[in-house]
Amino acid sequence: MHYYDYLVVGAGLFGAVFAREMKLHSKSVLVIDKRGNIAGNIYTENIEKIHVHKYGAHIFHTNSKIAWDYVNQFASFNRFTNSPIANYRGEIYSLPFNMYTFNKIWGVITPEQAKAKIESQRKSSGIKTPSNLEEQAISLVGVDIYEKLIKGYTEKQWGRPCCELPAEIIKRLPVRFTYDNNYFNALYQGIPDNGYTEIIKNMLDGIEVKLNCDYLENKSELESVAEKIIFTGNIDAYFDYRLGALEYRTVNFETEILNDTDNFQGNAVVNYTDKDTPFTRIIEHKHFYPGLETSSTVVTREYSAEFTRGDEPYYPINNAKNTALYEKYRDLSRNIPNVIFGGRLGEYKYYDMDTVILRALELAQKES
Ligand code: UDP
Repeated sequence: MHYYDYLVVGAGLFGAVFAREMKLHSKSVLVIDKRGNIAGNIYTENIEKIHVHKYGAHIFHTNSKIAWDYVNQFASFNRFTNSPIANYRGEIYSLPFNMYTFNKIWGVITPEQAKAKIESQRKSSGIKTPSNLEEQAISLVGVDIYEKLIKGYTEKQWGRPCCELPAEIIKRLPVRFTYDNNYFNALYQGIPDNGYTEIIKNMLDGIEVKLNCDYLENKSELESVAEKIIFTGNIDAYFDYRLGALEYRTVNFETEILNDTDNFQGNAVVNYTDKDTPFTRIIEHKHFYPGLETSSTVVTREYSAEFTRGDEPYYPINNAKNTALYEKYRDLSRNIPNVIFGGRLGEYKYYDMDTVILRALELAQKES
């Protein structure tokens, strides 16, 4: 086999950005992936003329002009703005938590009234310094919103009580005292016109890619094909779980083509925030493309579940126990300087796409 400067394990966003940058620096790169397709979890597939997010909905959003300009080299983006709604036992609420939400839940009209309501609920809860997700959520939006829009959804999503989850998870969501349903506080936002797979395909243009190739199953052969290895899979799997297994959440997707309707739910994302509905959300993919006219529609129900070996890992569970274990794996990785771990799985971090791009660019700069 040919000898390369870099072997990139995983043809997802991190691996593709890194590979592309190293190729620009005239390095030889081989990218492999255990799946039969490129693009990792941002893979999209065309079904009924609709780009379907096969491994969960991805909405590109960033405050970084660098990340935005970078990704726009590989695709054109539409003007989609994420405004999910919450369905709590048939009651519809606006997300993220904003004046529309406060009005619907309490009948308040002004920001001052909403703030007073939250403050009084926070006071009666007795929480001073929030130490977990439950306390953080109640401090931010009060107990009514916590009970209806956060508790059920979060416990389904993470499979753990809110009081055992890190406060950081809920800080991803903006709380606004304006009538603004834009889910993200991001300067730039959109969905690629031709889906995400095309972005990765363009990044990997001219780079050797081998699919259906599992690094860990062929380690003895593959570890010597390159000077350095970029590993974007689970860091605990790389070390054969020798210090114990890190926990992840997986998601099971139930995708349906509906031929008898062209508009199922009137929105791209509807969260089911009660505890009894077994799925967390329904995605209607065509609504990621405002104005797209099709005679049918494609919907996906997302069921969150605990990851067991053999599943696809989606979310790291960054609580104290896992963080401590991850740090031990990271220390181990420092003993093998020719292998670099990157991406959401390699770094065991709840990264969004823009951060993944920036991290890969940073690494590429360091390597060149
Ligand atoms: N969340 C919630 N209710 C919602 C939406 C989100 O309580 O209707 C909480 C939940 O804990 C979730 C977190 O906010 O895990 C982050 O949500 P985000 O939409 O960022 O999750 P992702 O899209 O990455 O799954």
